[in-house]
Amino acid sequence: MEKPILGATLFGSHAHLIRVETRTGRGLSRVILVGMPDAVAREARERLPSALQKHQFPFPKGKVLFNLVPAQLPKCGLPFDLALAISLLVEEKLCPPPPSLTLFLAELDLQGRLGPPARGTLLAALAAVQGSCTQLITAPAAAQEASLAPGIQAYGLVDLGEVVQFLRKPQNYAPQTPLSPSHLQSSALRLDDLRGQKHARKAAILAIAGRHSLWMQGPPGTGKSMLARRLSHLLPDLSAQQALEVAQIEALLGPLSALSLRPPFRAPHTSASAQALLGGGNPLRPGEIARAHAGILFLDEMPEFTRPVLEGLRQPLEEKEVRLQRARAWATYPADVQLIATSNPCPCGFATHPKIPCTCTPAKLQTYYQRISGPLRDRFDLFVEMSPSTAEELEGPPSPPHDEEVVQRLQKTRQFQNQQKLQRGFGQSTSASLEQIQHCGLESQAAGVLRQAVAKLPLSGRGVLRCLRVARTAADYDLSVQIRAQDMHLALSFRPLPVAKSTTAPSHFPLRVFPRRTEQKAAHSPGGSPN
Ligand SMILES: [Zn+2]
Repeated sequence: MEKPILGATLFGSHAHLIRVETRTGRGLSRVILVGMPDAVAREARERLPSALQKHQFPFPKGKVLFNLVPAQLPKCGLPFDLALAISLLVEEKLCPPPPSLTLFLAELDLQGRLGPPARGTLLAALAAVQGSCTQLITAPAAAQEASLAPGIQAYGLVDLGEVVQFLRKPQNYAPQTPLSPSHLQSSALRLDDLRGQKHARKAAILAIAGRHSLWMQGPPGTGKSMLARRLSHLLPDLSAQQALEVAQIEALLGPLSALSLRPPFRAPHTSASAQALLGGGNPLRPGEIARAHAGILFLDEMPEFTRPVLEGLRQPLEEKEVRLQRARAWATYPADVQLIATSNPCPCGFATHPKIPCTCTPAKLQTYYQRISGPLRDRFDLFVEMSPSTAEELEGPPSPPHDEEVVQRLQKTRQFQNQQKLQRGFGQSTSASLEQIQHCGLESQAAGVLRQAVAKLPLSGRGVLRCLRVARTAADYDLSVQIRAQDMHLALSFRPLPVAKSTTAPSHFPLRVFPRRTEQKAAHSPGGSPN
């Protein structure tokens, strides 16, 4: 039986295979294309006669009917020119049918050359493999991306003439070999660049060890953004599956050349719209949160983002995927991100500065803090307040722990978490439930510390769970099976105080999200250390 000629269409975050059928017959010369083609597919009718004639294939006189199956699926996003041309040539017996299921994915220009790479080539290749089609023909510039789909044989051919040659003698052609995954990362960014800020570094290391969300607050110039930008190099390489998921999202935005094994780090600007951050548009495209999948989403100056943008993050952060719904299209993109955010303590930036006075009015402060809702605030596991480093810290040598030491300890932590996974039912504590953490080992002293904190501090149920998760990560970092009192103290030192409701508070320090360092020490005396 003749193998069908296949094209593909993009639908949301996936591609689907489409069967292309052709019939020619007598009648007035006209070309009909049915099966819900979009404008790009429809216009192929005008390009085909010229492309075929350039390669000495006569375009049939009379009626030519192309049918795209299944008919009820809208065809959009991917070119059908090559699939239509080959289907017509096979129908006219001008070229042999492909020996096996083959996806033809390219547009043709008037000279019959295969056009530039189409958006979503990788997704089409993955859909092909899923549909038992292991052969794909596309333009040379797109073959590299297509070859990233495991199990596909992608051939990059120059023009229609070469495609016909390929179908006559496929043994003369070799498929594209995929580029090896790239591990490229910037080694210029090191934790050692940041001087002082011991407490913030502890928080950042714990955040990486347990994939916790982290919020750093402090006056301008304290090194918040600098620290955040140095965290992604502490993350381990992606698994092959994760790298492929990240590549699929990137393939929806433009051509790809290789898989990257490094986790993405996305830092959208504060002026980003909800569409830029969450995704959208016509056709639907993923936004920054999906592009940060399996990596870090960094919101520098978080309160400067508009409230609808920040509120839109709540659902994806909770469900680890972003769902977009438009009138005639919908898409779901994975969005398992680690959220790192920074903020100034007030609009002028100096509310917590030891020397520079704050000039903000209480009303201004109230508005500033209202931009971040309680539920979004609740999504953060670690809160840390930073104050300017001292002159001695800035001039002195880098503070320990140094990069190499941190990288090694994080590797050991991951091994420990993997070993413990079978026994306790979770690796990193971010996915653990309250019962799981309590049952896997909580020293009575640690439980006592938590009880006291619950009595003293306004800790919600979710706050207690987040505290326990961070304490679990602190224990993992020390390779301890039990959560000890010092782990609990440390976790509690990273909880925020609630935002004050009063607008008549003294203007020098009116509305605090974070306890001052001295209060943290008083409330949770001796803190443990993750280093
Ligand atoms: Zn201020």
